[in-house]
Amino acid sequence: MSIRVGIMGYGNLGRGVECAVAQNPDMELKAVFTRRNPEDLHIWSETAEVVSASKLADWKDELDVLILCGGSATDLPKQTPEYAKYFNVIDSFDTHAQIPKHFADVDAEAKKSGRVAIISVGWDPGLFSLNRMYAGAILPEGKDYTFWGKGVSQGHSDAIRRIKGVKDARQYTIPVESALEAVRAGKNPELTTREKHTRECFVVLEEGADPAKIEEEITTMPNYFADYDTTVHFITEEEMQQYHSRLPHGGFVLRSGVTGREKENHHLIEYTLKLDSNPEFTSSVLVAYARAAYRMSQEGLSGCKTVFDVAPAYLSAKSGEELRATLL
Ligand code: NDP
Repeated sequence: MSIRVGIMGYGNLGRGVECAVAQNPDMELKAVFTRRNPEDLHIWSETAEVVSASKLADWKDELDVLILCGGSATDLPKQTPEYAKYFNVIDSFDTHAQIPKHFADVDAEAKKSGRVAIISVGWDPGLFSLNRMYAGAILPEGKDYTFWGKGVSQGHSDAIRRIKGVKDARQYTIPVESALEAVRAGKNPELTTREKHTRECFVVLEEGADPAKIEEEITTMPNYFADYDTTVHFITEEEMQQYHSRLPHGGFVLRSGVTGREKENHHLIEYTLKLDSNPEFTSSVLVAYARAAYRMSQEGLSGCKTVFDVAPAYLSAKSGEELRATLL
């Protein structure tokens, strides 16, 4: 029998999960839940239902796992504990500083309901976190580095869009190649924020807006741009549509460490992602962890988990026997 999947929230991740489930023959998408009018949503799947989020609890026995695709800022802090009352759930909560509180809130509900909830799944947090953990466990004497990009930062793009006179904007975060090379060479550099990443902005102006004033506002914006070398390009709406409509991202997790009696041997662990579509890739990770949540729940586990608590074989559609025969 297929794993019965529901999607809560139909934005970038929701659409990505719909595609990812279709690539996993052991899963079946049963329903997409939305807070909007279900009649206004046009989903790709021909078999799944579109249902109002207000009816979710009625589906308690119809789904094996619910994948939460809301935003981290305001949706997930409420939705994940709420839906862990009825379902095994997965979310991609990425407000790093709030993860311990989110974990505690979700754990309380998932323990009460006897369900499994896996939070902060994706690539960062998610696969990058796992790689940082593996590398630190293996090379206890060493230094971690994470570089992001080249990719679109939605938060930074939104920050530019909020400036008066800006019609549209896309911001790319770009790792500084010389810094990456210094890490790869085992130099263990101390890198400032400015030395690790640059920021490149593409901006469409409202009619009559002053480009010099807007460039100044962007490059001096505290927290977002002031600590970086930032370049700003003004482009037309057509150029934005033609060259900047995708959401690529990726990055590098590196650990540079030493072993030996004299610490004479250097080792470098590097994990890289180059993603054409950040949301579609994140959704593919969510779907693999949905399988894990279902299996862990079948084994009688409950409570909140993170990627650290999930044994790797739970993610794979292959059996343990197949994995041992083909991948060990
Ligand atoms: P979106 O803004 O596209 O969607 C969030 C929610 O907004 C949806 O679930 C949907 O809920 C609602 N929504 C979407 N489109 C519309 C619309 N046109 N009108 C009204 N409401 C809409 O966010 P993303 O899917 O891009 O990202 C979700 C979260 O994923 C992010 O906040 C980010 O924190 C996280 N993320 C995590 C990553 C990781 O590596 N851990 C990587 C990438 C993202 P509804 O259908 O109920 O209206």
